[in-house]
Amino acid sequence: MRSLLRELARGGGDARVIVGPGDDAAVVRAGRRPVVLTTDTLVEGTHFRAGWWSPAALGERAFRINASDVAAMGARPTFALLAIEAPGTTAVADLDALVRGFARAACRAGAVLVGGNLAAGPHLAVTVALLGTVSGRVATRAGARVGDGVYVTGALGASGAAVRARAAGRRVRMPAVPDRGAAGPRLAAVASAMIDVSDGLLQDLGHVCRASGVGAVIEAVRVPVAAACRRAQGAHAPLFAATSGEDYELLLTVPPRRAGALSRIAPQLGCRLTRIGTIVAGRPTVRLVDARGRTVPSPHGGFDHFRRG
Ligand SMILES: [Mg+2]
Repeated sequence: MRSLLRELARGGGDARVIVGPGDDAAVVRAGRRPVVLTTDTLVEGTHFRAGWWSPAALGERAFRINASDVAAMGARPTFALLAIEAPGTTAVADLDALVRGFARAACRAGAVLVGGNLAAGPHLAVTVALLGTVSGRVATRAGARVGDGVYVTGALGASGAAVRARAAGRRVRMPAVPDRGAAGPRLAAVASAMIDVSDGLLQDLGHVCRASGVGAVIEAVRVPVAAACRRAQGAHAPLFAATSGEDYELLLTVPPRRAGALSRIAPQLGCRLTRIGTIVAGRPTVRLVDARGRTVPSPHGGFDHFRRG
């Protein structure tokens, strides 16, 4: 799958491409300001099950997931396209609610839904293309240096805990994707690298480490754990929160010389910001350690739809 994507995305090498394939979003020169481009698909049965979200909430989720990648580049979303595949039996009112939910979320984020497509298909699939613009610094996955602090917004593990509860037959509320649209550009001003947490903290930080050629040590005790995750997982909550996916928080590295600037920005983010570890020299791997510095073995590297089958 990944080699197929690399083949599809040989956009690098063109002078108009500022950030090519392999980051949260592409950044291209299409005018005075750099333009950020991203796309993602939510497929029923793969990414979610019927009934997890109302049609309006699913529309909002589809927008926010893409907006998360735009925020991780330090950009603000501007224009969106929405393509829906749905069985012919789907109620028109449900499709209408989905589009309205999407358009409302876009509007709240300062973006406009400018087009899309509707096609009949065997199951519900929602594909979004989102454009954004950068007015300050572009943050990529490459750029983390030895000694940088590792920080994460919000709290982790709520989404994973809810999916686990649903799989066990409990009707818990599925958490919404957080809105980090204002935080992204502010954090990009001080970050040496940034990514959003879609596959799980350890796995996504691994992407940063590989792109930057550094290692990372994360202290399990510092990982901000969502209350629902702590209730469900007890003593295992920090490890669960560090490896479960779909939290869509921002994960960034900040050089020590920008720590002062970061503390001035922190109160304006509209969310919690926690230092969870440090970038270290060595192989591009992420080590989770307990309070005594011992490595905590992690059962799996994160969330990957195609690896899990
Ligand atoms: Mg991402």
